[in-house]
Amino acid sequence: MRGQEADKIKNIFDLRGAPFLMAGTGLLFLLETRYQLRKRKLPRWLRLRTNTAVATTAALALRLALIPALVKTAAFTQRKNYGLLKYTGLGPAASGLITFLLMDYGNYRWHKLNHSSSFLWRFHQVHHADLDLDLSTAFRFHAGEILASVIYRGAWVAGTGASPATVLLYEIFFETATNFHHSNLRLPHKAEKILSKFIVTPRMHGIHHSIVRQETDSNFCIILSLWDRLHRTLKLNIPQEDINIGVPYIRKHLTAAELFKMPANKIQEWKLPDGSIPDRK
Ligand SMILES: [Zn+2]
Repeated sequence: MRGQEADKIKNIFDLRGAPFLMAGTGLLFLLETRYQLRKRKLPRWLRLRTNTAVATTAALALRLALIPALVKTAAFTQRKNYGLLKYTGLGPAASGLITFLLMDYGNYRWHKLNHSSSFLWRFHQVHHADLDLDLSTAFRFHAGEILASVIYRGAWVAGTGASPATVLLYEIFFETATNFHHSNLRLPHKAEKILSKFIVTPRMHGIHHSIVRQETDSNFCIILSLWDRLHRTLKLNIPQEDINIGVPYIRKHLTAAELFKMPANKIQEWKLPDGSIPDRK
């Protein structure tokens, strides 16, 4: 990797983004402990241990593969003057904003694809098989999912012509939003209602983790809730106490070793162990 790109990652992500994300994670952990949204099914420490083990490999894949690949792609695209942006003639601030929005849209499409493609679902189900949803779920991704996203997200970076700095800033916002909307933080209803008009909130994303198929197949957004609105995949107004978190075919806690091996297993039907299909009356 060229020195300039490695320096950008160090200056923007490692020295500024990472401490900010760590402080935010600590704060959210305290807040979700104090103001709990959904009742837990399992002891918090049991899941924390498992999710941390899975998260360690995901973090390595993110920092050592995904981020360098995206930044390298962005630098290459800029050097060659490729990408949509070169046709717009906009200044750096406006083009930064537009590519930021386009990357958020690209991640909406990527998340949706993780649910519709049976190959990608093998990896993404590791995240959804968590029986409770909280801050630790935000880190529980199979490293294979992160590595697979290099190709798709790299194509969006190249296609849009996003700069390396925008890519890194987007990544910091992406991680912050992911931590926030997975958290088990009870916000006042009124605050959630206003916030969800713009960004993804904990109640909104809680519906995406439901065992009811139509609910899982909604609310795919990462930062802005706009893309779900535009594609009519937005679902709100399901009380959190009525949501059963997880996937219907796994109703027990899986160990980290079982989760690492999960993508190799045969894909199971969207049914409860008794054969019934979860539904909402
Ligand atoms: Zn999902």
